[in-house]
Amino acid sequence: MARMSSPGSVTQRSTVLVVEDEEGIARLLQVLLESHGFTTLVSHSGEGALACLRTHPVDLVLLDVMMPGMDGFEVCRRLKAKQEWRHIPVVMLTARDTVQDRVRGLEIGADDYITKPFNTEELVARIKVLLRIQGMSREIVRRNRELQALNAVAQAVSHSLSPEDILTGALARTLESLGMALGLVHLVESKSDHLVLRAWYGLPAEPQVPLGRLLPGTAWAWRALGQDEPLVLQDAAQADGMGLPPADPPQPMAATPLRFHERTLGVLTVVGRPGQQISPEETALLDAIGGQIAMALENAHLYADSRRKAREFEALYQLSQTMASTFNLQDILTRISQTVSGLLHAQAMSLMLLSPDGRVLSTAAGYNLFDEALQAAEAIRARQGCSPSLVAVRDKRPVAIPDLSADEVYAPWLQAALNQGYVSFLAIPLIAQDRALGCMNLYLTQRHEFDADEIQLLSTFASQAAISIENARLFEETRQLAITDELTGLANHRQFYHQLAREVRRAQRYKRPLTLLMLDLDHFKEYNDRFGHLAGDQALRETAEVLRRNARDVDILARYGGEEFAIILPETDLERATIQAERIRAAIAVHAYRGKHSNPQGDLTVSIGVATLTPAIRRIEELVHDADQALYRAKSQGRNRLELAPARDPAADRT
Ligand code: GH3
Ligand code: MG
Ligand code: MG
Repeated sequence: MARMSSPGSVTQRSTVLVVEDEEGIARLLQVLLESHGFTTLVSHSGEGALACLRTHPVDLVLLDVMMPGMDGFEVCRRLKAKQEWRHIPVVMLTARDTVQDRVRGLEIGADDYITKPFNTEELVARIKVLLRIQGMSREIVRRNRELQALNAVAQAVSHSLSPEDILTGALARTLESLGMALGLVHLVESKSDHLVLRAWYGLPAEPQVPLGRLLPGTAWAWRALGQDEPLVLQDAAQADGMGLPPADPPQPMAATPLRFHERTLGVLTVVGRPGQQISPEETALLDAIGGQIAMALENAHLYADSRRKAREFEALYQLSQTMASTFNLQDILTRISQTVSGLLHAQAMSLMLLSPDGRVLSTAAGYNLFDEALQAAEAIRARQGCSPSLVAVRDKRPVAIPDLSADEVYAPWLQAALNQGYVSFLAIPLIAQDRALGCMNLYLTQRHEFDADEIQLLSTFASQAAISIENARLFEETRQLAITDELTGLANHRQFYHQLAREVRRAQRYKRPLTLLMLDLDHFKEYNDRFGHLAGDQALRETAEVLRRNARDVDILARYGGEEFAIILPETDLERATIQAERIRAAIAVHAYRGKHSNPQGDLTVSIGVATLTPAIRRIEELVHDADQALYRAKSQGRNRLELAPARDPAADRT
């Protein structure tokens, strides 16, 4: 706020305008007043007095009543009618001492009345009193104006929590209060440390490029930041970087830093009208306004921050809800990666999971991921020489790297990320029931110091994610148990029909070939009898293994029951299926059951029935029946062989 001399003291030389048509009296008054330290202006007519008021600052008017032309009453009336002169005290001075004249003079606003001939000491004393009173009221008016201005700005900034609104509103009120032409607010942009123009008022056109972004040290605004007091220039055209054309008379300007608790947020700049003066009081007021704007900006920032946090928590909550509603691991992983990368504005993210035996950490899902990260797999190691992800999992703690290029410990593991243009990295372990299941890795293209809040938020989320992953895995395990045969690990009978129905539907819809093999071990009862049930079980496991080795990824292997197996061959016609079935038959025939010392008589063979899908076959049971019939024939024709089902007559057997 303005630091002022005590209210009412007359410290500067006050200027008294003497309005007197008689030359001699005017001269006398002038000498008298100047001898008491006043500055004087003299006018010999009412018209002259008004002209003088228009061009000179005047503190008091000593006004003769009787003058040719415009008389003193009229001058007083006009003076008091004008806003900017109203406060100037007027002392009426006349030889006529009638009560009527006094009343009239006071009525039209004269502050005092002195009759001629006057006592010089009384005259000077009265003038001094009036000037004291006037000084006090001026101070009050000024303070009032300051308060009004501050109040107006406070109102403007408290109306909104959007920085743009705050700045525009504050600028408008500030310029209005100070009667100025142009206002600018530049704010420090944290990522570049430049001063960026965020609001303006009174600019004739869109701001020019250099005005929009002030590089450090280049313009008046940076000078203002370098000093304690606001920067005041008499001529704004002289301000470097402002780019204002020269005006005559010049436009003054002032710039004040926007600071909140030692933190510099930006600079407020105002430019006056041509010829305007910026007083020390106005400069102080501007300083106060700057403080208010800074506080409002800080509030807006805090508000935006808490809004952002609320949104993040909402996102996490939503995600945990949806995660709880699915047991599909891949689904869960995808959702986690999308949400998390959104939260931290990470450009890429990966989820790594530990293998069930807890020994290998490898990528399970990713978002916008580059090849190296997508294929990353690493064995758990006890000590040094680990990737940050592995450390996060092993030590169950986050590993944050704000700047990859500056990091020496993890540089070798993150070179690929660096090559991809990533700058910051964060690994957060996924911990469920105190066990690390894996980790989330975030990649950011900008340098980023991860603050405690962010890490806390992500860790909370990570533990939620870990529980969902754990649940999905358990669910998957249970599901696997329900659909696979425990002894061989192949699909069980139920799953076989389920898969067959699906594959047949697809083959029929797209008119693709499909062939079914039914297999039955030969004389397995004997084998069991001879070597025991456990050896029989082992033989079944080994048979499953031989089948797997002779199957493609798309083939579906099932244990149909007992020592019977079924193989669905999608995309396979009878001819190719026959070749594959023959290969399987041969592989089982040569397989050394019971190890390499097995007795040739102890070796097992298999009979195979082959049936392919034709348009005549409408239901899957028909296909299974055909394969079964073929298998039966293979048995009856000597075993260790395969038989093909005859083609059905499309016209016959319609149901
Ligand atoms: P064929 O060549 O006619 O098929 O003769 P087979 O002896 O293989 O046929 P059969 O159906 O008479 O006997 C099947 C035998 O398979 C009976 C049963 O002891 C045995 N078996 C079925 N399931 C299992 C199993 O899970 N473990 C063991 N060890 N043996 C099984
Ligand atoms: Mg059998
Ligand atoms: Mg059998």
